[in-house]
Amino acid sequence: MIADLEETRRRLRSGTLPGALLRPGLGAVLSEGDRSLTRAALGQRTDRVAGGLARLGLRQGDRVAIYAPNSLEWILAYLAAERLGAVVVPFNPAYRAAEAEHILNDSDPALVVTDRERRALVESLGRRVVPIQDLPEEAKAPPAPELTPESPAVIIYTSGTTGRPKGALLDHGNLLAQTRGAIEAWRWTGADRLVHALPLFHLHGLAMGLNGTLLSGGSLTLIQFTPAAVVAELQAGGSMLFGVPSMYQRLCDHLEEHPADLSRVRLFVSGSAPLPPALFERCERLLGQGPVERYGITEGGIVVSNPYDGPRRPGRVGFPFSGVEVRLGESDEVQLKGGQVFAGYWRNPIATREAFTPDGWFRTGDVGEIETDGSLAIRGRLKELIISGGFNVYPREVELVLEEHPRVAEVAVVGLPSDRWGEEVTAFVVPAGEVTELELIAFARERLATFKCPHTVRFVEYLPRNAMGKLERSKLV
Ligand code: AMP
Repeated sequence: MIADLEETRRRLRSGTLPGALLRPGLGAVLSEGDRSLTRAALGQRTDRVAGGLARLGLRQGDRVAIYAPNSLEWILAYLAAERLGAVVVPFNPAYRAAEAEHILNDSDPALVVTDRERRALVESLGRRVVPIQDLPEEAKAPPAPELTPESPAVIIYTSGTTGRPKGALLDHGNLLAQTRGAIEAWRWTGADRLVHALPLFHLHGLAMGLNGTLLSGGSLTLIQFTPAAVVAELQAGGSMLFGVPSMYQRLCDHLEEHPADLSRVRLFVSGSAPLPPALFERCERLLGQGPVERYGITEGGIVVSNPYDGPRRPGRVGFPFSGVEVRLGESDEVQLKGGQVFAGYWRNPIATREAFTPDGWFRTGDVGEIETDGSLAIRGRLKELIISGGFNVYPREVELVLEEHPRVAEVAVVGLPSDRWGEEVTAFVVPAGEVTELELIAFARERLATFKCPHTVRFVEYLPRNAMGKLERSKLV
């Protein structure tokens, strides 16, 4: 059994990104608007850009940051850097000076691939710019470096909803294992066309969306997310959409007004934040199927998913991909082990040590529950635990109850300091119609022990979320 697991891990981690992603002979086409790149053209352009970056002095092991919105050039820069054995540091183009400065100082890239809008900022931070709209090219391909699955591939900064972002260093084997796990779990083939509307700087867009397309030999269309654009691409032959719950919310709002037949779509995937059961049911009605909800974390990879065949249970994130083990540790913390899990934080041995248990499991910081069928449900972050009157309250449990109320569109539960209770359970609610604080508290009391029920309800117009649709609770407290 253990020997089998080891063998599976070796198989999933085998090879390197350039070898696996740029393997000739597959039919993928990458497109963006009216521009497209066939697989053959992608291989040739990648070699040329790798030559151009090598001419600028980029060497194996150097970091190269990519600080720009999604585009075909973004993809070329990423593949060319991997082709040279460089370590790609992709980050959110919406980041402002202080956030970019932290990432650039910490990762210390030799080059920063960026666009016109961000160029002056990057230069003011003392970094050498490569213009993304005009990537350097050379006719002669540089020699292939010696890479193994353990060679570093990317540094992805954690979204930092609490504290300063840390750079999670993932190797070639980590990324390949995650991607292969997803391909297998979601039956991804060369016949698929992914409607790609997620940021490439996050694993969901990069390891799943882009690498999955290249590895499976399928195609991909890059779009800027709007519900209308998604519907148009899905109706024009897109077979899959990967999204975050806030995207599905907007998509459903749009489809209520402008119904469309999406029955030919093979698969919708949701992740990065909890998919409320009511939204899942809305998707069933409006999209024709509920999304497959998946769970992951930058450091541990995207590694757990509801089944492709078989019941997709709202409120649960499902079962581990091949080669991944999940267990619940102290305080029901979700812990992961497998070839997908990172080796450590970039230049941060203390944080790395804290991230693993003594027996080598990665501590996600999420609180989980294993259901009777063995599937995993996420109850929230350990750090978000509210201690009210000496009792533990998991915000997600309270949110799930309030989300059932027909006049609640969205809800976030946090603990606010209180002289009497230590922390007071407070619900921030985006209403969907007329509803009062007293009604919602009474609704909760019928369904939850009193100590878990909100003391206070505050009505707001929207909830603060980051680029991946993740709730930013720290902005509420
Ligand atoms: P990131 O490292 O940015 O991918 O964020 C990872 C965190 O997102 C996890 O630790 C979870 O707290 C949260 N997350 C990801 N997927 C889900 C999901 N399906 N349900 C609930 N939380 C999720």
